This record gives sequence, C-alpha cells and structure tokens, in this order.
Amino acid sequence: MPAVYDYVIVGGGVVGSMLARTLSRYDAKILLIEKDVDVGMGASSANSAIVHAGYDPLPGTLKAKLNVQANPMWDNLAGELNFPFERRGDYVVAVGPEERPGLEMLMAQGRLNGVPGIHFISADEMRKREPEITSRVSGALWAPTGGLCDPFAVTVAAAENAVQNGVRVLLDTAFEDFIWEKQRIVGIVTNRGSFRCRWVINAAGLYSDDVMHRAGVRPEFRITPRRGEYCVLDQAEISIHNVLFQVPTQAGKGILVTASLHGNTLVGPNAHAVASKEDRSVTSQGIDELCSGAHKLVPDLNMRTIIASFAGLRATGNGPCVDPAIHYNNDFVIEIPESIQGLVNLGGIESPGLTSAPAIAQYVVGLLKDAGEKLVEKNDWQPIRPPRPRFRDMTHTDQARLIANDARYGKVICRCEMVTEGEIVAEIHAPIPATTYDAIKRRTWLGTGRCLGGFDLPRVVALLADELNIPLQEVTKKGSGSEFLFRLTKEQPPAPDAELETEVAHGR
Ligand SMILES: Cc1cc2nc3c(=O)[nH]c(=O)nc-3n(C[C@H](O)[C@H](O)[C@H](O)COP(=O)(O)OP(=O)(O)OC[C@H]3O[C@@H](n4cnc5c(N)ncnc54)[C@H](O)[C@@H]3O)c2cc1C
Repeated sequence: MPAVYDYVIVGGGVVGSMLARTLSRYDAKILLIEKDVDVGMGASSANSAIVHAGYDPLPGTLKAKLNVQANPMWDNLAGELNFPFERRGDYVVAVGPEERPGLEMLMAQGRLNGVPGIHFISADEMRKREPEITSRVSGALWAPTGGLCDPFAVTVAAAENAVQNGVRVLLDTAFEDFIWEKQRIVGIVTNRGSFRCRWVINAAGLYSDDVMHRAGVRPEFRITPRRGEYCVLDQAEISIHNVLFQVPTQAGKGILVTASLHGNTLVGPNAHAVASKEDRSVTSQGIDELCSGAHKLVPDLNMRTIIASFAGLRATGNGPCVDPAIHYNNDFVIEIPESIQGLVNLGGIESPGLTSAPAIAQYVVGLLKDAGEKLVEKNDWQPIRPPRPRFRDMTHTDQARLIANDARYGKVICRCEMVTEGEIVAEIHAPIPATTYDAIKRRTWLGTGRCLGGFDLPRVVALLADELNIPLQEVTKKGSGSEFLFRLTKEQPPAPDAELETEVAHGR
C-alpha cells in the first residue's frame, strides 16, 4: 500500500522548497518530488539573484503584492536558514534625458505598491556612489530595500530545513499523472511509483502548464520559456559594488550590471522566447547583446574578462494580464481551482518569483486554510537550519580547530575558491545530498575561479566515487547522461588475494 501524504509538492525549485519548509511548521505528512538529481536546478539556480524592492510589478497584481510582502521577510529568513543575503539596495539608472520619464513611472508604481524608502538621486550623486557609471547618466531611482542573495543556497537551505522538520524529499522523481477518485485527486503517479495524498501542489516551474493540463485545469494556459543569458566577469575586473538596472522597456527589465555575493560582476539577462523548455544555450549574439547592454551603463567594463556564461529560462505564462501592452507582466497564477478537488495550482512564477517565494508559500497556506484545512502548528518545529563550516571565511584559529577535529578540512581541493575536502564530504552527506559535481559546485562555489575547475575536478570525481561507493565512471556532472569518464584507460591492479594475504600475515 503506497504511503499516504497530506501534501505532495511537485517541483523542488525555490517555490516548492519554500512551500515544503513553510508547511513543515504544521502537523502534516509532506512529500516533495523533484525530477532532477538535485533541488533548484531550474530557474532557481540561473537568475539575477536579486531580492526586488517591488517597484517593477504592475500595481494591483499578485506579483506586486507578494513581492512587497516578501521583501522584508528576507532578513529573518537568511538568519534562520543561514544563507548569504545582503540588503545593498538597487538603482535604476536613466541614461540621457529621454529616460527620465521611465523613472517617474517606476516611482509612481513603487508608491502604489507600497515600497518603502524609494527616492530619486541626481546624476552627480549617482556618479559619486558608482564612479564607473556612464557620463550620460541623467539621474536614478534608489531603492534601499533591494537585496542580493545566493538563490541556490536559499533553495537548498529551505529544502534542508523542511527535511529537518520531517518532510520527505525524493530527487530524480518525476510527476507523470494524477490518481483520481471521481473529481478528487487522491495521489500521483511518478517514474518511481505512486503516492497517495490529499492535496497536490503544482510548483513545477516551466512544466507547471503540463501538470495543470493533466488535471484538466486552465487548458488555455501556456508557459513560454524566455531565455535570459548572463556572463560573469573575473574578480580582477573593475568591481561594481552596486545593483544597476536599466530603465525597463516593454520587453523587460533590460540588461543589468550587478555585484554578486561571490565578488564577481554579473551582466545580464537578455530576454528571448525559445522553443524548448530545455534550451539553456548561450549564443554569441547573446553575448554581444550583453556587452552593449553593459556598456550602456558602465562603458569601461572590459568584457574580455568574461570567465563564465550561463542562461536561465523564465516560466512566462499567459495568466491574468493587467496591461496587455506589457506582455512580460502577466500575473502569477496561484489558486485552488473550483472544478476539481485536491489541487493547489501555481503557474507563471517568473520574476519576482525568487523574491516572492516566502510570501507565495504563506499565500498557499492561506488558500489551504480557506479551503477548510485544519493546519495545526507543531510544538517542536525547528526554524533554524544549522550552518556548515565555510573554511575560507573562518579565522586562522577556527580553521586550526576545525582541522584538529577533522583532518579533511586541512586538504584544499579548490585552490581558487579555497574549498576543502571536509566541506565537500559534508555536502555529499547533507540532508539534501550533493551527488554530482555541479551540486557540489553550486553549494561550495568550487570550480568558479580562474581555473574553472581544472584543478579540482578529478579530485571531486574521486571523492564522489568514494563517498557514494560507486565506480568512477558513474560520477556525473549533473545527472544521468553527463558522466565524465567512459572507460578505464589502465587495468586496475587485481584485488589482493585474501587467502595469500592471510598466509603472509601468518608468516607461512
Ligand atoms: C533570467 C532570469 C532572471 C531572474 N531574476 C530574478 C531576480 O533577480 N529576482 C527574482 O525575484 N526572480 C528572478 N527570476 C525569477 C525566479 O528565478 C523564478 O521566479 C523562481 O526561481 C521560480 O521558482 P520555481 O520554484 O517556481 O521554478 P524552478 O526553479 O524552475 O523549479 C521548478 C522545479 O520543478 C521541477 N519539475 C518540473 N517538472 C517536474 C515534474 N514533472 N516532476 C517533478 N519535478 C518537476 C523542475 O525540475 C524544477 O526544479 C529570474 C528568472 C530568470 C529565468
């Protein structure tokens, strides 16, 4: 008899993970399934990492409401879940007098949305605060509540805290269909068996339209993947300490130049609809577009120092649209559909979905309560997710103490980012285990320095094989089909003959 859950969450992005953590506060049996080998491999790991202040979404939308509600939640969240977050504020920079009206429009929206503290600053003040800014700057909008996070760390931390509080997480487990009793959903079928439940929560990101269509809900709803390409500049490049947005156009927020919490400058994203929900390619035209976008704000940025590039896919839906002229501003869909029972349906969770995730989770709890769910808080809910040691951030005394306790913290595996064997092993055996090279990279930041993994890769592959007790050829970059090694090039020495060894030991 398959297990019976109160809530099954489909999708382990930041939204599904935050939902799992929020629901774990209540006395309920919860399962989170994720089709990939790790949580947060979708949009939640490839975005601008900005906790938006809330002046961008159109007033009256769920996007605006949840963005503004969520923004102040981040300090507490970062403290409880121990992930990197800095409230640095952000700037929308007008270039030339023709862009000034755009700032006025954002200011009006921000006021209507209830964003605290936003105000205009002069071109001179902007030059003082960011000396690298273009000389054509004509003024800026300053939003002090904007923040920067590590979005992948947020997702892992929320999922781990959910596990600490009793949530079961199944990776590599894909939703395939619903199980029905009349008009009520009573479970799901996955590639790894069936699970009975009272509610299914659709948090499948790019694939949320497929999931809702399986339930017969919103047949007209479609997710269009919109690719956003990025490039990362070497830390030696002029460092940008601020978050610099362009004045948005009808196509989107435009290419931003921003600091990142890891010290590199990030440039991107552009926005292009693509045919495939898996097309995360980076194109040379895309990089050209990023270069001209970046130079508009920071003309001296040396784009020859690009050390990495990546792309994320926005799950752009055709949900409620407040202003048809602004196609990217279709609203989030977050609902309990009336036509069937047992489904919480989320769709079109594009930007500011990362920012809004904690408020989305609370909103879903509210919908469940309105639907008659008796959500009783546990006495022993544990909101704190304990931090793991980060060697490079520690004092010499603490490092020495750590090594004395576990010598593996004395072996540096990634020299550029100073990541030790102890940290890697800890991630492999964490509550959400890191079982691929990329999973370890996203958690520790190894392989992101100048050598781009040239030194650490073979060592990490060997560690993964040892710790997971699998052959070297089964270690992957990001799941099945991305193995590093196809065959052994040398015969392995034969295993020592146990009998002979015993004889030798006995001196015969
Ligand atoms: C280029 C870009 C820039 C952005 N910048 C920002 C920003 O700066 N600030 C901000 O607030 N927001 C930003 N966003 C938006 C933000 O990243 C997303 O709104 C957020 O990550 C969505 O989270 P999610 O959990 O809904 O989706 P995802 O992270 O995509 O997670 C959905 C999960 O569902 C899983 N899944 C799908 N189908 C199935 C299935 N059948 N069975 C099991 N699992 C399944 C997927 O594998 C995936 O892990 C940006 C997005 C992009 C693409």
